[in-house]
Amino acid sequence: MASAVRDGRTVIVVGSGLAGLTAASAALQSNANAVVLLERAAKPGGNSIKASSGINGAPTRFQLQSHPDTAFFSDTVKSAGKRIYSEATLEQTRRKGLIKLLTDSSAAAVDFLANEIGVDLSVVTQLGGHSAARTHRGAGRTPPGADIITRLLGELRQDSRFELKTDSEVIRLLSSSHSPGPAGSSSPPAIIGVEYRSGNELSSVAGPVVFATGGFAGDADGLLAKHRPDLSGLPSTNEPRSGMHRLLTDVGAQLVDMDSVQIHPTGFVDPLSRDSPLKFLAAEMLRGEGGILLHNGRRFVDELDTREHVSRAIMDMEPGSGPLKQWDVQLLLDPGACQTAASHVAFYEWKGLLSRKKVSELDETTRSTLRDYSLAATKQIPDVFGRTSFGHWALTGGHEDDDQEVCIGWVTPVTHFTMGGVAINDKCQVLSSSLDAETEAPVPGLWAAGEITGGIHGDNRLGGSSLLECVVFGRIAGEQAAAEARSN
Ligand SMILES: Cc1cc2nc3c(=O)[nH]c(=O)nc-3n(C[C@H](O)[C@H](O)[C@H](O)COP(=O)(O)OP(=O)(O)OC[C@H]3O[C@@H](n4cnc5c(N)ncnc54)[C@H](O)[C@@H]3O)c2cc1C
Repeated sequence: MASAVRDGRTVIVVGSGLAGLTAASAALQSNANAVVLLERAAKPGGNSIKASSGINGAPTRFQLQSHPDTAFFSDTVKSAGKRIYSEATLEQTRRKGLIKLLTDSSAAAVDFLANEIGVDLSVVTQLGGHSAARTHRGAGRTPPGADIITRLLGELRQDSRFELKTDSEVIRLLSSSHSPGPAGSSSPPAIIGVEYRSGNELSSVAGPVVFATGGFAGDADGLLAKHRPDLSGLPSTNEPRSGMHRLLTDVGAQLVDMDSVQIHPTGFVDPLSRDSPLKFLAAEMLRGEGGILLHNGRRFVDELDTREHVSRAIMDMEPGSGPLKQWDVQLLLDPGACQTAASHVAFYEWKGLLSRKKVSELDETTRSTLRDYSLAATKQIPDVFGRTSFGHWALTGGHEDDDQEVCIGWVTPVTHFTMGGVAINDKCQVLSSSLDAETEAPVPGLWAAGEITGGIHGDNRLGGSSLLECVVFGRIAGEQAAAEARSN
């Protein structure tokens, strides 16, 4: 094994998704001597680069609301569901503290990306489970994940203190010898670096570590099968890859909420490869901009309810036939929704996932559904499913609609995001104590951010809050690790 070249004053970031890149950027801004970013894949970006709906923030200058949006915290607590109302008061306080940190820092996170990194976040949409439009994306053709990652990486590459090593998989955290802790207990050994593999070569690097290796929705036969065997057979939006949680539990980290897995209600079913287990996400903003879901030509849910509720409404119905567990549901966008989501729609049409039809070519059940929904969208009748926001839906329900074109595709629920992960505190230190412990026991020298962490989203993550957690907690983790590196 090649020995460690550095002296402990280098910040080590593991994983080049948004959490890792943000941590690297924050560490450099906090005067770290050097930052080395280790990435297992050949290309940087992780699942972050696929993000298509946007990033949450409130209140921001991009939100065109008459009153400042102050409900982000309460929406997030509501979405987190039962897990946040744990009987252990300390645990409840800690979970709410993390949510407060996430939502209170959200406007600054959007400002950081827009003002310092130059990302266009001027278009704001309301996604499911939100009581206001607060999910930001750009007006151009590049989806938000790709735009954010490309710009952030470009910025980092201009700094001579930054080094990105791809094809470099971290296989072990290196720790100091065991040290006695306070009050007769023992604190876990400090992390002093990592060992990684590049091709056939093993190397190590010394320094404080920010761990940002993402979730485990793509680990179908490993962590997912272990914690949620009932989800086997569902397709996924995540690249197939194993979760890295064991590397952290090996050094004492506690896991929380590992059985809390988010099912996204709408993964596209490609008519040419219906049985592929990897699905393209039908971005939530397609529904946010007015799109509706149909089963046999009829709506069956408020499409802007939480992902969990919409997914359950689909999965309560009879699945379709075939080797995968999937359902025959249509996503339909009217001309107003198609136009507002034009850049997404063009991509999905090019991929063969959406196609166009005139309203007059639809079957009578679907046309009748469109008439009713259009009346609700124009506020002539209340919506039967209680939907109150209709995006840019433009059909009126009259004969003039017949010549208009709608966009239609097939969708099905997919595993999408894992709410569970390692326990952290508000400084992003990885904890070896449970969330209800009297005294917190951070693992010295180790921070984590992004989807690898647990305890923030509880039962259900709101759309747009994952990119946000990467930025908010990535910045904290990077700053903290840089401070540690400077003190070495
Ligand atoms: C299709 C899709 C669309 C989405 N859209 C949105 C959206 O619009 N808004 C939103 O908020 N969220 C969205 N999400 C969720 C969000 O993108 C992810 O949860 C988030 O980006 C995770 O970021 P991360 O940095 O934690 O992990 P990732 O981006 O997954 O990055 C982790 C990186 O760590 C690397 N890695 C893993 N193990 C090792 C190791 N041992 N050594 C070195 N490197 C390692 C991986 O290769 C990967 O590059 C979407 C997710 C998907 C799949």
